[in-house]
Amino acid sequence: MKTNTVNKFLLISIDCWRFDALSRTNPLFNTPKFDMLTQDFSLAEKFFVPAPATRPSHTSYFTGLYAFEHGVYGQTYLKMFEGIPNLFQIFNDAGYHITGRSERPEVFRFLDFEPFITAIDPNAEAQHLGSLEDLMRQLKQPADVPQFCFLHFWYTHGGYGMSGIPGAPSLKWLVDNDRIDEALRIYYAAATHILEFKLVEILKQLQLSEWAVFIFGDHGEGICKEITDHGGTLNQNVLHVPLLAHIPRVRDLTFPDAPLSAIDLFPTITNLAGIDADYQGYGQDLLSPSEIDSFGPSGRLILSELDSLYGIGFLSKNNLEMPHHRVTSRTTVDNVEINRYSEGVRLWSLTDGEHLYREDEETGEFVYRHVLSGEDLRCEDPDRFRDAYDDILMNSNYQHLQARDATAEETEILEDRLRDLGYVE
Ligand SMILES: [Zn+2]
Repeated sequence: MKTNTVNKFLLISIDCWRFDALSRTNPLFNTPKFDMLTQDFSLAEKFFVPAPATRPSHTSYFTGLYAFEHGVYGQTYLKMFEGIPNLFQIFNDAGYHITGRSERPEVFRFLDFEPFITAIDPNAEAQHLGSLEDLMRQLKQPADVPQFCFLHFWYTHGGYGMSGIPGAPSLKWLVDNDRIDEALRIYYAAATHILEFKLVEILKQLQLSEWAVFIFGDHGEGICKEITDHGGTLNQNVLHVPLLAHIPRVRDLTFPDAPLSAIDLFPTITNLAGIDADYQGYGQDLLSPSEIDSFGPSGRLILSELDSLYGIGFLSKNNLEMPHHRVTSRTTVDNVEINRYSEGVRLWSLTDGEHLYREDEETGEFVYRHVLSGEDLRCEDPDRFRDAYDDILMNSNYQHLQARDATAEETEILEDRLRDLGYVE
């Protein structure tokens, strides 16, 4: 092992954790214990997720690939393209002790890494009422045991613990009735609970001098006029999330000025571990900032995608109780295509970290806005983004996976695009 490699990794995903749900970015946030424990963690200020939903986003974190490359285009796509390495499998093959725990493990059903993720508390029926003790026992392996650990907190999702409170308003009602501040207070309270109780209790029991720790959102939450939750469109509040990182023996980790993506974690982590994963995606090693900042005069643009052609929800009884063998492809069950969603869309967006350009793939309608303020701006040159998007699609080193597994409709969309670009007659 090289002297600068790390062999204990902890990845913590907080569902719906958006950029302002943190004391460093929001003075309303009161998390003194969490702040003390993470004071030497670095915050990435321009960090974005490739998809606005749990399944495609985590698949990107674990594979380093964009949604169009790993195949989980949207929340309801059932499977990934075949044969893509994921962090769990890679670290398992490298002899690491693997711990994968989630407050909602079912959400990962049918994905390649599903077998690695179980409930945080195997004895609890409702995970948010469970204990962290079983999980902590897993994390306390002997010092020489290499470890890869993933934790996923769900309490910050959806009702934020509001359901069951008599007379509690719905978040949508609050947003629709100009009571966004009240909605935010409820959401922030749920995030505070995870940071200031659960994460504090976990982090304070670890020898942080040995562990590389990454804390991130899988996507944010709208809580604004355009979107209340997530998953329905590519909104800046949904795509812009915090990333806190702590690397042993690396002091004052400075993130590049360029925009960063969840897909950057895969090369960062495998490089830190000294594992050659033959990675050929667009992700960049966050510990080599000079390479990320050298993207030429127009700079790096980060892609996000939304495909809701089959819907935006996944956690139905139908999906959770269906035996694995019945899923015959990414979009079929028993070789029959799953139901279409009448309001389904395909959107893509690109960001330079400060501005977000979003386009509807079918209508060509676009918006251009400021990431932090959400203010709509005039876009002088949409073709700059359209060309950059085409470049990303066309230069992907994983096109063979799409070609092998694509549905007839996907093939048609790709062929149309190639025709438009003059690649084929
Ligand atoms: Zn999620």
